[in-house]
Amino acid sequence: MKKGFLSLLILIFCGSVGFAQNARNLTDEQYMALADSIHKVVISFDTHVDTPTYLLHPDGHFTVAKGQVSFSLMEKGGLDGAFFAVYLDQGPWQNQKSLDSAYTWCKDEIQAWKDYVNQRCSDVAEIAYNTDDVKRIKKEGKRIVVLCIENGYPVRTLSEVDEFYKMGVRYITLSHNTPNQICDGSRYPGRAYWHGLSPFGREVVERMQQIGIMVDVSHVSTESLMDVLKVVKAPVIASHSACKALKPSQTRDLTDDEIRAIAAVDGVIQVATGRFFLTDDLPSHKVGVKILANHIDHIKNIVGARYVGLGTDFDGGGGVVGLDNASQMKNLTVELLKRGWTVEELRGFWGGNLLRVWEKCEKYASDFQNGR
Ligand SMILES: [Zn+2]
Repeated sequence: MKKGFLSLLILIFCGSVGFAQNARNLTDEQYMALADSIHKVVISFDTHVDTPTYLLHPDGHFTVAKGQVSFSLMEKGGLDGAFFAVYLDQGPWQNQKSLDSAYTWCKDEIQAWKDYVNQRCSDVAEIAYNTDDVKRIKKEGKRIVVLCIENGYPVRTLSEVDEFYKMGVRYITLSHNTPNQICDGSRYPGRAYWHGLSPFGREVVERMQQIGIMVDVSHVSTESLMDVLKVVKAPVIASHSACKALKPSQTRDLTDDEIRAIAAVDGVIQVATGRFFLTDDLPSHKVGVKILANHIDHIKNIVGARYVGLGTDFDGGGGVVGLDNASQMKNLTVELLKRGWTVEELRGFWGGNLLRVWEKCEKYASDFQNGR
């Protein structure tokens, strides 16, 4: 496809003219060329990959390792950045020794991952500590690395929230599937301990927002989510979650009411790609990009494109046919274009929505610290 034609297409789409009516006659090759040009101009993020665990512990028992993310795969897929999670299995949170070892382990893992990026990959990737970094690193053509923790289990005190912030952590998933000292998880509703946030958890959420760590509500129970939404002063994210309306048997997925509640605080739901999140209607080896796009469209239909993005869960169980590693991101863009998504909507989906939340969290933290 000629460059001029591409620019013309993008101009048409940016002019809020629906894409579908203009694109009926595009070939698959033309769709891919258009997706390619879109990925060049937008900032794109995957908000949840478990790659640090995979890289640091290739034979470890945590690993559902497939090697789905590398900086070269990201570049090939037109993916600018990812939130790289240090993941913690939930251990006995009422036992001080176990909390202590979770804390130490988490700090060591974060440092090891930072060393990996800074010492071995600095020519192709850089850690972003704020949204200005994100924009600068994109301009420099490097991959953007953001640090995060999946499971608040290592947080023993409020001052440790600050400590993790100083290390570069920019979101914390409050729990994994079961209760911890912060809140209940979503996987086993019958095992709720706090019936929402714990008193300590409430303080942790407040402190996170006061210093600029985004609150991630993926994996938390409905009661925990509703408690969080009462406490927060800035938007939250669900870093990797799908829609329960399309997979009623999955307790981890978000109900339509939960999706509306997250959107009501101007948060964003980043759709996960784990096949077990997405449908009961197909065997897992047949779950593909269209099924994933159904979840994305479902969120768009009930609250709007402003509130949806992508958090693949690669290297942690994520991946569907056609989107099974970071090099295949444009296949999803093509599918969404075919469904009538405009370039502006795609700009939001791939990163604009997430950056809006992050910027609002930065502003709240800055205002709080300056006594405003
Ligand atoms: Zn997860």
